[in-house]
Amino acid sequence: MEQRTYHGNLTPMELGQALIARFNRGNLRAQQLGDSERLIVQIGTRPGALAGGDTTISVVLQKFVDGVTVQLGQQAWLGIAASLGTTALAALRSPFNLLGRLDDLAQDIQNIQINDQIWQAIDDIARAAGASLELSERLRRMVCPYCQTANPVGEPSCIACGAPLGKTQPRTCPNCGFVIKSAEKVCPNCRHPLPV
Ligand SMILES: [Zn+2]
Ligand SMILES: [Zn+2]
Repeated sequence: MEQRTYHGNLTPMELGQALIARFNRGNLRAQQLGDSERLIVQIGTRPGALAGGDTTISVVLQKFVDGVTVQLGQQAWLGIAASLGTTALAALRSPFNLLGRLDDLAQDIQNIQINDQIWQAIDDIARAAGASLELSERLRRMVCPYCQTANPVGEPSCIACGAPLGKTQPRTCPNCGFVIKSAEKVCPNCRHPLPV
């Protein structure tokens, strides 16, 4: 299960509705369950689709202090292998058979890439809402442990009392948005190496 964190002014509801608007059409259908704290969007093939097999995938959108955590579930396959298999067998008998299956083949391949399409859509939606994998402005403000004054992230010492702040600055993984401690060298969520 792959997880990313989007920081900023984004809610599970906004993200969920935008995903449904994108995926509830054509050969796909999408529906949402849950509430404003934790929303599950299921994206799958419409029953009775002629090609592409049946596939379904769940996107879990969880509200947290600084935005939304997104988990993409394992894609479930119901019959796409059989659909691809028919095409391969037909092509083996005669390459001309493949011509009649080109649309089906395109649909099979499109369904295989649905995972990437969903991440792409989520990235687009988050960007349009001003959210990103970086810490939001709100969390970027650090509170000085000595005088309680809010300081911008990256400030080496408190702007009010001059106390050192350096070691406590939070940051996020550039690959998945996970909030990490300054000493970590790889992301605990996605194992992406982190810039020092
Ligand atoms: Zn201070
Ligand atoms: Zn990461």
